[in-house]
Amino acid sequence: MFKRVLIANRGEIAVRIIRACREIGLPTVAIYSEADENSLHVRLATEAYCVGPAESTKSYLSIPAIISAALVSGADAIHPGYGFMAERPDFAEICEKHGIKFIGPSAESMRKMADKAAARKTMIENNVPVIPGTDVVTTVEEIKEFAKEVGYPVILKAVAGGGGKGMRIVNNDDEVETNMEICQTEAKSFFGNPDIYVEKYLINPHHIEVQILADQYGNVVHFGERDCSIQRRHQKLIEEAPSIAVNEETRRAMGEAAIRAAKAINYEGVGTFEFLMDHDGKWYFMEMNTRIQVEHCVTEMISNVDLVREQIMIAAGEKLDFTQDDIVLRGHAIECRINAEDPSKGFMPNPGTITGYVTPGGFGVRVDSHIYQDYTVPPNYDSMLGKVICWGRNRNEARRRMYRALKEYVITGIETTLPFHQDIIEDDVFISGNFDTGFIEDYNKRKAEHA
Ligand code: ADP
Repeated sequence: MFKRVLIANRGEIAVRIIRACREIGLPTVAIYSEADENSLHVRLATEAYCVGPAESTKSYLSIPAIISAALVSGADAIHPGYGFMAERPDFAEICEKHGIKFIGPSAESMRKMADKAAARKTMIENNVPVIPGTDVVTTVEEIKEFAKEVGYPVILKAVAGGGGKGMRIVNNDDEVETNMEICQTEAKSFFGNPDIYVEKYLINPHHIEVQILADQYGNVVHFGERDCSIQRRHQKLIEEAPSIAVNEETRRAMGEAAIRAAKAINYEGVGTFEFLMDHDGKWYFMEMNTRIQVEHCVTEMISNVDLVREQIMIAAGEKLDFTQDDIVLRGHAIECRINAEDPSKGFMPNPGTITGYVTPGGFGVRVDSHIYQDYTVPPNYDSMLGKVICWGRNRNEARRRMYRALKEYVITGIETTLPFHQDIIEDDVFISGNFDTGFIEDYNKRKAEHA
């Protein structure tokens, strides 16, 4: 087992990882920026090192600073969480060179999936259906030609994209002309790589993703799917497991496809295969996330498996001690992401000091968060304050429990998305479960008509 684990992250995911380490009995090393001195992960870790100023590029994204903290503290493993260094093959390689285990897949298998265009190729080679699309495109003619083949709309995407950024939907030849360069420029500035590719744009599909876990000995299992169709501007707001849009046959086929692909790239650790599913139940691979995801908790709630613990054990060289047949999914789980945003002001980020704080509790309720009373949310990072996850024997029970938990949750001093989530959880269309990625747009329209 490792001697100590450095967590190269902040916020709720850093807290989540520290909790898993503590349960295993592993000492932890937190890193933090000057803006995060009072962050909960700093207090919970065995020791903590300031690695730079608030600006991420000089702290949470500074490889020399992170590696130095690991060497000084004697950490022999680094958990990257999600975001920041999680999907950087160069970072995984540098860790290895310093004799530090990167808790995640090898740089090589990450490279096969990190670039979205390369990932599509890997999946095609492994007989997994992908959304009709192109390789990297460099001219407007290539895009127009592809659009002629599949029909508009099409979507331009950064090959290095993520977090719902770097995507542009185009509806005709003229829009291709005006959007190609903008998309490349955005790709360059957000992700440091101007390369883009094109996909057929599916109208209001379901976002369905499959969680897998792979050890170093070629054993791979899947945990069924999550439905992440409730999105605003291509960013997930509410996730649930299982998806009521997925039947047993599709579940098995998607799971098998994910396992096949993971084996093909010698994948190690936790990973997620993201698919889009149309209204005829046809599904297509979209991308793979080679890390733990924000929404991993809903899968934990229905499978009773601690995915972060498994991730650490696998990185330490342990064999998976259960098989696919041992994985039994029970009941239903829903997660709401609570952000420091003001829904009445177009979801503008709303950092500031939390003056009052009461968390919900009770049977089937889990809160993963790094905030507390008197904590000041810094303006420098993602606006997510945490997640409420509720389990129920069936979807309706989970949903009612979520409503109860959201009503109990008190965060004062800053505006949050709590009231917004309360409304959605009680919305008739959400209750029916009959929704897709067009839900929020439709919901907003319905609200506007009512007002
Ligand atoms: P990111 O990596 O930024 O999260 P994804 O490729 O995972 O980006 O896409 C995020 C969301 O954008 C999807 O869940 C879906 O709602 C929408 N989207 C992406 N590609 C398509 C597509 N080809 N057709 C329709 N919707 C899409």
